[in-house]
Amino acid sequence: RAKERGKNTFQFYTTDMNASALERLRLEYALHRALAQNEELEVWYQPKVALADGSIVGAEALVRWTHPELGPIAPDRFIAIAEESSLIGMLGEWVLATACSALRSWRERGLLMGRMAVNISGRQLKLGGIVETICRILDDAGVPHGSLELEVTESVAMEEGSGMIDVLHRLKEQGIYLSIDDFGTGYSSLAYLKRLPVSGLKIDRSFIMDLHRDSDDAAITAAIVSIAQSLGLDLVAEGVERVEQRDFLLGKGCTMAQGYFFSPPLPRAEFEALLVEQAGRRPCR
Ligand code: C2E
Ligand code: MG
Ligand code: MG
Ligand code: MG
Repeated sequence: RAKERGKNTFQFYTTDMNASALERLRLEYALHRALAQNEELEVWYQPKVALADGSIVGAEALVRWTHPELGPIAPDRFIAIAEESSLIGMLGEWVLATACSALRSWRERGLLMGRMAVNISGRQLKLGGIVETICRILDDAGVPHGSLELEVTESVAMEEGSGMIDVLHRLKEQGIYLSIDDFGTGYSSLAYLKRLPVSGLKIDRSFIMDLHRDSDDAAITAAIVSIAQSLGLDLVAEGVERVEQRDFLLGKGCTMAQGYFFSPPLPRAEFEALLVEQAGRRPCR
């Protein structure tokens, strides 16, 4: 078949593949430069809120990269590039140190006593000495281990025979809080889930999105809420954008959420302004 289409078709695909490989290489180089120069990269923060009253109970750190010519590049894209090169260690450490320094300052001012959640990739968790590296960053920042939450995606946490479960256990022994991100999109067996040293689950946004008009998504979400309750796990719903979604989740007994309904991820100064505003509203006793 390919032969029938002739030589030009073949050349078209080759050129196309080369272009995307080249683009990737360009981005990898640019990311390396951004990390080395400590420019272009930022960490933004999205509130984790109590569903009942919208009060901020924690934050999730989300990395942002604005390339000088290409503009903003989605984290899903450049995290994948960092994972396939050796940049993931450096990038992950930079995000963690940056988030911890913000948390330290908010804790000192009594603005945020809840946890700071940081996403950690599978490749990064497999780097030698990762537990020690993470603890050193926390200690250098003066942040208690218990105020860090690491979000690990379901597929990474479930990787058997890769030493992943051992790393997770050692992080937990250090007092770090672990949660499973994008829960429901992998293929966890509940028996395995029970053995993981995690304290919380985050329901993937794909189930929350159409909750108010798709009865399958509503049923899956309700089931995840009851799984979390029976296993004694904390639960956060991701991607809550509408009041109907909030009301459904509250009705099922889910207590925490994130999403545009409450707030999008914000630059540090804007997130801090939210915290200050909330502190002003808190009744003095
Ligand atoms: P995630 O950890 O599941 O993060 C949630 C994503 O959903 C974020 O996208 C956030 O901006 C977005 N989001 C939050 N609320 C809403 C909402 O109500 N509606 C919609 N449509 N989206 C919402 P973002 O920042 O583009 O990050 C995408 C993914 O990239 C993250 O998914 C995470 O897996 C990864 N990521 C981001 N920052 C880091 C990082 O510092 N390290 C690592 N390893 N991964 C990161
Ligand atoms: Mg996350
Ligand atoms: Mg997620
Ligand atoms: Mg995700």
